[in-house]
Amino acid sequence: MDRQVKRFNKVLVANRGEIAIRIFQACTELGIRTVAVYSEQDQASLHRFKADEAYLIGEGKGPIEAYLDIEKILEVAKRYQVDAIHPGYGFLAENAQFARRCQEEGIIFIGPTPDHIHMFGDKIEARAMAIKAGTPVIPGTIEPIQSLQEAMQFAREQGYPLIIKAALGGGGRGMRIVRSSDELEDALDRARSEAKSAFGNTAVYIEKYLERPKHIEVQIIADQYGNTVHLFERDCSVQRRHQKLVEVAPSVSLPEELRNSICNAAIQLMKEAGYCNAGTVEFLVTPEHQFYFIEVNPRVQVEHTITELITGIDIVQTQIRIAEGNALSDPEIGIDGQHEIIPNGVAIQCRVTTEDPARNFLPDTGRLLAYRSGGGFGIRLDTGNGYPGAIISPHYDSLLVKVSSWAKTYSQAAKKMHRTLREFRIRGVKTNLPFLENVVQHQDFLNGQYDTMFIECTPDLFE
Ligand code: ADP
Repeated sequence: MDRQVKRFNKVLVANRGEIAIRIFQACTELGIRTVAVYSEQDQASLHRFKADEAYLIGEGKGPIEAYLDIEKILEVAKRYQVDAIHPGYGFLAENAQFARRCQEEGIIFIGPTPDHIHMFGDKIEARAMAIKAGTPVIPGTIEPIQSLQEAMQFAREQGYPLIIKAALGGGGRGMRIVRSSDELEDALDRARSEAKSAFGNTAVYIEKYLERPKHIEVQIIADQYGNTVHLFERDCSVQRRHQKLVEVAPSVSLPEELRNSICNAAIQLMKEAGYCNAGTVEFLVTPEHQFYFIEVNPRVQVEHTITELITGIDIVQTQIRIAEGNALSDPEIGIDGQHEIIPNGVAIQCRVTTEDPARNFLPDTGRLLAYRSGGGFGIRLDTGNGYPGAIISPHYDSLLVKVSSWAKTYSQAAKKMHRTLREFRIRGVKTNLPFLENVVQHQDFLNGQYDTMFIECTPDLFE
């Protein structure tokens, strides 16, 4: 393929909160001018003030709809001569139509192609691609389930427990565990109607439900010329209701051989798919060390920070350089091959949210009367709207700040995290800080002996 590098002068971030600010920082370091868009409800949000230019979008629309308004965002981008749009995560990040409309308007979408977004947005198609690439997948149905008979047939062959998943599901939603045949019909009906209302499509499929696996995911970066490398793995097993809460890079409980196999499987899959830009391949790993593909996230992830800490590679800047047309080996990126990526130390990320652990993690809202963060050597903070006087609104997700710690060893990184979490002083709104403190000093966490059911099965975390 012909090499054409087009430097960006101006980048718009079609997002809000911490990830918008994170992307502005990356752009500014690269000498790129930044453009924010913000909703009416976000007039006082920090991301608006952290960009070189900021424009109101979605007037008269809802708080979420503003950030989903493809045509309005493109209008701003064109009017202010933006070269490229970074979608962050959430909102339009996995909307193939948005990526396509950017292309049509001559604006570069900083991410994979619309076809790849489409393929990996559908878990059934993603599974088909994994099978084609020779990646182990969890035994499951190849096509969407059309009838109860098909579901029963699968259950007879594989046995229980099973998990019914929405093809277009995400964010831990659209999944239903089935433990016996008398639950199957009801679960299938509910899964389909939930899939329809949440994702606009009734397609569901069935997988064997794995008891107590670990969630291990591999960060991939690939340029437009077929060069693909991995930045090692993250262990995202500490989850609440299938949503990640604490992440660790690299995983401290994978034997070296298994780590290599998983990372190589991820590379092979993304190469087979012809994937470009940053993406993550997610796996479940059983206690017997079998690993299985679950999905690909074709975007930057919340937990990319810890991979940056252990590899020294700025993933967001790499995304931008790739979108400009650079090859991985160009000096702008400077990765000559896999051998150049050498992980150093261990990093842990905690998602500090305004959720109240004492009230079943109900999101709290209001004004931050006091906000002081922890810090110090080896601590990275990615803050959305954490400052004294900030209003925490009910409109958006409850992530307040991401705290990442880095140290030479896992135990030091965990101690550093605990010390930092304790330094925070937040008043006016409840947070999950006390719960996170319990997690990072729990013996099972410190031993690396945790799986995706750790929180559900460890009542002393709630004390
Ligand atoms: P989402 O797209 O909503 O994040 P994923 O497919 O990535 O959904 O799964 C999220 C989490 O759900 C996994 O990390 C794991 O904890 C659980 N999960 C998904 N599939 C299975 C399965 N077949 N068996 C056991 N747990 C599963």
